[in-house]
Amino acid sequence: MKLVLATHNAHKVEELRRILGPRLDGIELVAYDGPEPVEDGDTFEANALIKARAAFLHTGMAAIADDSGISVDALGGAPGIHSARYAGSRDDGDNLRLLLERMTGVDDRAAQFTCAAAFVDAVSEHVEVGVWPGSVLREPSGTHGFGYDPIFQPDGIATSSAELTADEKNAISHRARAFSKLFDYIRSR
Ligand code: IMP
Repeated sequence: MKLVLATHNAHKVEELRRILGPRLDGIELVAYDGPEPVEDGDTFEANALIKARAAFLHTGMAAIADDSGISVDALGGAPGIHSARYAGSRDDGDNLRLLLERMTGVDDRAAQFTCAAAFVDAVSEHVEVGVWPGSVLREPSGTHGFGYDPIFQPDGIATSSAELTADEKNAISHRARAFSKLFDYIRSR
């Protein structure tokens, strides 16, 4: 079986291969970087489906896609689906600095990463959601990962997610949780 992964980020295919390991046996994962659809859904699930549908319609092949971000309780769930462009650009450093600024003097630091992973083919659509609970640190720490990792401390872990190795993060992250469930669904069809 061939599956198209809708992404403009070549690293995502490799990351997903590592997350899925044996769950990928017999499935060929192909990166798709055709026209980007307008992501105008108001949930992670809706936007993941928009991306997967666009890839399916463009290639005619079964497609998967994800949408993810960080949601902070004290900010009413912001930046949420706007995580990638929170500060106006796609710059990780700017986004992270803006989030820390908005959290100045805030004691409730609870936050979570969410990933919605969607599958679309000619006969079905399916979405799974993975959540990684934690809190927002007061200053960045660690150099691994990307995005908000340096200021996110997962529950039950003593460091930021940017201090975890790729393998450690891939075993427990929101993306791992969502895609593991999605591939259980795909394999059970
Ligand atoms: P997407 O590519 O549209 O799903 O945007 C996801 C955005 O959410 C990224 O640009 C990051 O800012 C943030 N994000 C999602 N997952 C992670 C993660 O695992 N670590 C750090 N930031 C993340």
